[in-house]
Amino acid sequence: MSIHLDIVTIERVVVSQEVDYISAPGIDGVVGILPKHQPMLTALAIGELRYKKGNQETAFAIGGGFMEVRPDHVTVLADAAESADEIDEARAEAARKRAQELMAQKVASSSEAVQAVILEQTMRRAELRLKVARKRHRGTNE
Ligand code: ATP
Repeated sequence: MSIHLDIVTIERVVVSQEVDYISAPGIDGVVGILPKHQPMLTALAIGELRYKKGNQETAFAIGGGFMEVRPDHVTVLADAAESADEIDEARAEAARKRAQELMAQKVASSSEAVQAVILEQTMRRAELRLKVARKRHRGTNE
């Protein structure tokens, strides 16, 4: 028994295939999905989405979005999605460093507080990309 997984962004179809199990970064925590899951619609946080097919597990860095679950089909509309192989680690390191440097500057006004939230999210995306990219080196991806 399997479930079809589509991960799409505004730019491309990232994944379209039958899988055995999906673990997704729901806004209220990790959501595990097996075939015949009850229908639901949830917002996704910046986090790791993994799927299993046989004994292979594949990880993606997801930059937030939405997920629609039906018993035989899961559709993820992601703001950004990259597999470990697609992640440019140097770019993520640079994004993290930029965000770190800007976060170190004092936050005084409310517009700077908004900037701080944006930087925090940039930092989380960069750290997630580095975490997922490093799985490639451990050989846990397809
Ligand atoms: P940067 O500051 O490096 O652009 P970002 O977090 O602002 O990072 P996003 O807005 O999340 O980037 O993504 C913009 C586009 O760039 C998306 O298509 C995303 O998949 C891609 N992208 C961002 N960072 C990386 C990366 N390190 N490796 C591969 N693709 C990336």
